[in-house]
Amino acid sequence: MTSLDDLPIRDDLRGLTPYGAPQLEVPVRLNVNENAYRVPEAVALDIVQEVARALPEANRYPDREFDALRASFAAYLGHGVAPEQIWAGNGSNEVLQHVLQAFGGPGRSLLSFTPTYSMYPLLARGVGMDWIGVPRGEGFTITPEAVRAAIEDHDPDVVFLCAPNNPTGTAIPLETVRAAAEAARGIVLVDEAYAEFAHDRSQTALSLLDEHPRLLVSRTMSKAFAFAGIRVGYLAAHPAVVDALRLVRLPYHLSAITQAAAVAALRHADEMLSRVDALRAQRDRIVDELAALGYEPYPSDANFVLVGGVADPRATFEALLARGILVRDVGLPGTLRITAGTEAETTALLEAMAALSGAGSAAE
Ligand SMILES: *Cc1c(COP(=O)(O)O)cnc(C)c1O
Repeated sequence: MTSLDDLPIRDDLRGLTPYGAPQLEVPVRLNVNENAYRVPEAVALDIVQEVARALPEANRYPDREFDALRASFAAYLGHGVAPEQIWAGNGSNEVLQHVLQAFGGPGRSLLSFTPTYSMYPLLARGVGMDWIGVPRGEGFTITPEAVRAAIEDHDPDVVFLCAPNNPTGTAIPLETVRAAAEAARGIVLVDEAYAEFAHDRSQTALSLLDEHPRLLVSRTMSKAFAFAGIRVGYLAAHPAVVDALRLVRLPYHLSAITQAAAVAALRHADEMLSRVDALRAQRDRIVDELAALGYEPYPSDANFVLVGGVADPRATFEALLARGILVRDVGLPGTLRITAGTEAETTALLEAMAALSGAGSAAE
């Protein structure tokens, strides 16, 4: 019997644990920030037809340059973004990996502001680069001054700013993004996975792309577009950045089925996004009602809320799970992260939290 420890695995991978949020079949799943709503049926049918058109040509490799998809993303993003500024991958995690493969690697460093997305250190390690986590300020905010100081102190090759930030929900003001782009000698990537859920959607780093050729803005169809199962992420940047990413992608990395599905879904952007406002309302409702119960939810511009003031996160997690509700313990003391669900799911969550705090097990 061979175990992982017996294999000639890379030294820097020994002892690590893979990304692994639990995938449990429970009625109310509020743990990985998925869109609670299914793909609308009319849209699903159009996607199926587009995929059906692509299938007979599946004997050929797909369009390596995914031209139709790039045009669709550029049109969706607006802000004057052109198709040659678009890159895409099988989820934005793959896009982030491409960025680190092209601009990071051994001997180089990635800096981000903690707590933040747990994949950043894993992606950095995967390409053999160092990861530098700089703690955020009061209420998980980051100021232009703090960003400038961190970049001057550590001189990173790549900076990832998660805006709105996972797992805290915190927005990043555009002045802070601008400060990072000005201070860094390397690449600055703004991970806007949750941009569509922001209170003020005009605050996107897309508006800064023209000023900064080393600024990259990544997005995903997984959250607002209710497309997590298809795996499509993308970024916008200077066309020269896109040229760099071509050097590291695997040939034909986006399948013909993925391209067809994404192009069809983007034709229905309004419908795909139609539930975002409902989810934003449930997100705000979680903040308001949990605050009224005595918890300390952090302000959120994403589709989830980091809830502080949880006396025993493990116990609350288990008590919710016993009621068929799955949330996320991200390991921040005294907190749980809860994704906004449908109105009914959110009601179930809030009723359970009220029952738990009434029983004295939450805020004691
Ligand atoms: C969910 C998420 C992503 C998107 O992941 P995909 O690979 O596109 O599904 C990227 N960044 C952050 C911060 C996320 O939370």
